[in-house]
Amino acid sequence: MAKGKKPENAACQKNDILTLEIVDMGNQGEGVARIEGYTLFVKDAITGDVVRGKVMKARKHFGYVKLLEILTPSPYRVEPACPVARQCGGCQLQHCSYEKQLEWKEEKIANCLRRIGGQSVFAGSDSVVMEAIMGMEQPSHYRNKAQFPVGMNQEGKLVAGFYAGRTHRIVENRDCMIQHPCNQILIDAVLEYMEEYRVPSYDEVAHQGLVRHILIRVGVHTGEVMLCLVINGKRIPHEKELVDKILSLDFSTSGALRVTSICLNHNTERTNAILGQKVSVLSGRGYIEDCIGDITYRISPLSFYQVNPKQTKKLYDTALEYAGLTGNEVVWDLYCGIGTISLFLAQRAKRVCGVEIVPRAVEDAIENARLNGIGNVEFFAGAAEDVVPAKYEESGGTLRADVVVLDPPRKGCDAALLETVVRMEPERIVYVSCDPATLARDVKYLCDRGYELKRVRGCDMFGMGYHVETVCLLHRREKRI
Ligand code: SAH
Repeated sequence: MAKGKKPENAACQKNDILTLEIVDMGNQGEGVARIEGYTLFVKDAITGDVVRGKVMKARKHFGYVKLLEILTPSPYRVEPACPVARQCGGCQLQHCSYEKQLEWKEEKIANCLRRIGGQSVFAGSDSVVMEAIMGMEQPSHYRNKAQFPVGMNQEGKLVAGFYAGRTHRIVENRDCMIQHPCNQILIDAVLEYMEEYRVPSYDEVAHQGLVRHILIRVGVHTGEVMLCLVINGKRIPHEKELVDKILSLDFSTSGALRVTSICLNHNTERTNAILGQKVSVLSGRGYIEDCIGDITYRISPLSFYQVNPKQTKKLYDTALEYAGLTGNEVVWDLYCGIGTISLFLAQRAKRVCGVEIVPRAVEDAIENARLNGIGNVEFFAGAAEDVVPAKYEESGGTLRADVVVLDPPRKGCDAALLETVVRMEPERIVYVSCDPATLARDVKYLCDRGYELKRVRGCDMFGMGYHVETVCLLHRREKRI
């Protein structure tokens, strides 16, 4: 129960100072307090905290409160490992113990599947479908990709870091606790080069200057590192000096690494999008390679690749287990990216067909299949909701799959796609999702049309952040005749 006084008209007013007990956490990890049915969201507070806060916005059914003081800290509260955790928009849950983060993520999945999906799923209990979330052994320095904006601070000093939550102000931070330690060495070298040769950073207000972002990708299993400068132009001055500087860096403090790719990405648009469509290579190759299990993947600056390699292996192993392959199955991997899951499954299936909307990713997928000597795969470029119904029509309604894998972006699957998937009568559907709410919506659609939710498991790819990945297994209720 909230300890704050009930304001007049059952809702509080802007600028009210309240004492609140945090009873829950919202979708983005923010604290939730309730005053007689009225919900208040308190950023940076967690379940179990008692806080003093100021009402910033009061709507009819809910309001937003700014945290002023923690009166009694929650038993789950911990000291953030990062000194700029609160200003920086990168992490939302550093002040919450990792065990509690996992528990909250599991509840979030179960809640969505219950409320939106109409499923009887209970986190933490031994009900049929919910399995224990897969957490990280070490929830720090896990990311293999970072994009640091570059700019000037108020003193006119060149800085790189992260944007403060919901703003474009750069919080200087080279030593990020969720990024790979080599980032710091590379950023220092790039900033030094920029200072030495007076290379200007990009100013997004004036749409002037050159260096916009520093993109770093690390193949944690191969030790290959890519440095890619996103620039507002065609070339950078003193290119050779930059390349020599980067290639002579000593990474011995952060593992056996070597820079095998230095590139430029050209983005001359006035846009919030970080990357432009064109890439040119300054040194080495235009991509790095990394492995998941026995498969090697080629990753270029523009391709999607999961950001947490250790957890990705667990996620794909779970997808493989749920797919229940024996070697005889035809599998469709929809939203396949660079063919990561497709190739993982192809080792155990008769044939895998992948569909992906980004043509460059499809090229990478084809190349990755060749690189690994995998011949039983085929990839199609286009929107899954166009390609799959078209293939089904072409086949005169005979197209079938034994297993369908769905791994859509946050907005989930298009109904036109799900409709065709149901017609293809797969025995099993493995749904890999980065948004429990759209997952639950799609699970409901499938369960209303002959499928049954059998297994659910969360996988924490984004420790300290509020996102969570889920894998679900659905079975067809009636067997094919
Ligand atoms: N399964 C892959 C990629 C998952 S991310 C992996 O694990 O690496 C989702 C992918 O869906 C992205 O590659 C994105 O480009 C693609 N995508 C987005 N909308 C799509 C659509 N309508 N049809 C097909 N692919 C789409």
